[in-house]
Amino acid sequence: MRPGLQALGYAASRVALAALAGVLAGAILGRPWLGMALALAGYLLWHLVMLYRVEWWLQHRSVADPPEARGVWGTVISLIARLHRRKRFHKLRFVQLMRQLQQSTAALPNGVVILNEQREIVWFNRMAARLLGLRPASDLGVRIENLLREPAFGHYLHKGDYANPVVVRRSSPQDSYLSVQLVAYGDGQQLLLAADVSRQMRLEAVRRDFVANASHELRSPLTVIAGYLETLGQDPALDEDFAAPIAEMRRQAARMNSIVRDLLELSRLEETDERAGGEPLDVPALMALLRRDVLARPVHPGEVRVRNDSQAALIGKESEIHSAFANLVDNAAKYTPPEGALEMRWWSDRDGGHFSVTDTGIGIPAEHLPRLTERFYRVDPGRSRATGGSGLGLAIVKHVLQRHGAELEIQSTPGKGSTFTCHFPPERIAAEALSDTP
Ligand code: ADP
Repeated sequence: MRPGLQALGYAASRVALAALAGVLAGAILGRPWLGMALALAGYLLWHLVMLYRVEWWLQHRSVADPPEARGVWGTVISLIARLHRRKRFHKLRFVQLMRQLQQSTAALPNGVVILNEQREIVWFNRMAARLLGLRPASDLGVRIENLLREPAFGHYLHKGDYANPVVVRRSSPQDSYLSVQLVAYGDGQQLLLAADVSRQMRLEAVRRDFVANASHELRSPLTVIAGYLETLGQDPALDEDFAAPIAEMRRQAARMNSIVRDLLELSRLEETDERAGGEPLDVPALMALLRRDVLARPVHPGEVRVRNDSQAALIGKESEIHSAFANLVDNAAKYTPPEGALEMRWWSDRDGGHFSVTDTGIGIPAEHLPRLTERFYRVDPGRSRATGGSGLGLAIVKHVLQRHGAELEIQSTPGKGSTFTCHFPPERIAAEALSDTP
């Protein structure tokens, strides 16, 4: 039988027993009913006393022991005591867990900041305090953008794409770099993760400087070699046997020259990760210029079209945009046979401005597309070298577009052709064409 039911049966038998005893005692005095009433009243009084004692214990349970009782009250008290014990056990475990969690996040080598829906600071660990200069006394409840005021972070917040961290350069300590990332969780809360990447950035700068210096140093000797080879190649007195090797040496020197030129350009683009400034550029004029360049190549696609579907000008750095577009057009010309076609197109819509280069050339198998913009990545190294490619063209395009907040989209079907499209955001578009502006 369940303890509750057992106690109830016990209590009922106690009532019956008390009533019987009362009746018997009353009968001796000739007042059985009075005896029973008195006995039941006494029993009720005992219950009231127990109720009072249990209530008093519940109010002072942290200092007082449970009252001693048997029967139904004993069962009730032991059930309550068991509930309390269980509650205390869970509370203790929760507090322990919280403490462990706090200790482990405090020991993390990365900064962690908990932000609420309004991006106000709710909590941060010791590393976050050190890296971001946060103070518990004054910075709790403050919006993170008011404390981390670097433009790169503001831009990151504004963009709303938190899939990757952003590298923020801090003025103090001098030349320090932080990698910062927001991670959404729960109901609109966010976790800000910060790590010190100053060492990686310094190594990256050393690598960049090395490539830039090496390319720079190579330039002068290469110019001399190319110059002599050119003179030799044009010398009518040159032995027939040397004509072919010298022509090959000239080709290779030209390739080395283009590699060095592209490496220098990449280093220059990498020098700052700041956004490129901008002046309104006349894209149709640029397309006309690029078309002329294609037609001037000794071998080029038979059909080279230009389509201008926008009155808008593109806001960007002219030398960089020219270089990026020229690289795309150059590739299309290189990888398209003379019987093929090449089309450049410029258009704008609500999403911004778009420049595409479509060719009917050899195309690119899908598995190569994700890696195409890596340095020196070539689908067919032999073919690229034969066409004088440096393998750096698309890396330059990617960098230029990044600096303009733009993206490169590549569509390609092997054997049919490719389309490379640059998508510029709306803020890179000047509504009126250059010719319309005074
Ligand atoms: P490269 O100087 O070798 O052309 P890029 O970085 O410009 O180097 O291009 C990388 C690779 O992408 C090329 O080697 C080539 O295999 C492929 N590629 C680029 N553009 C095209 C295109 N329009 N058609 C076919 N393949 C292309």
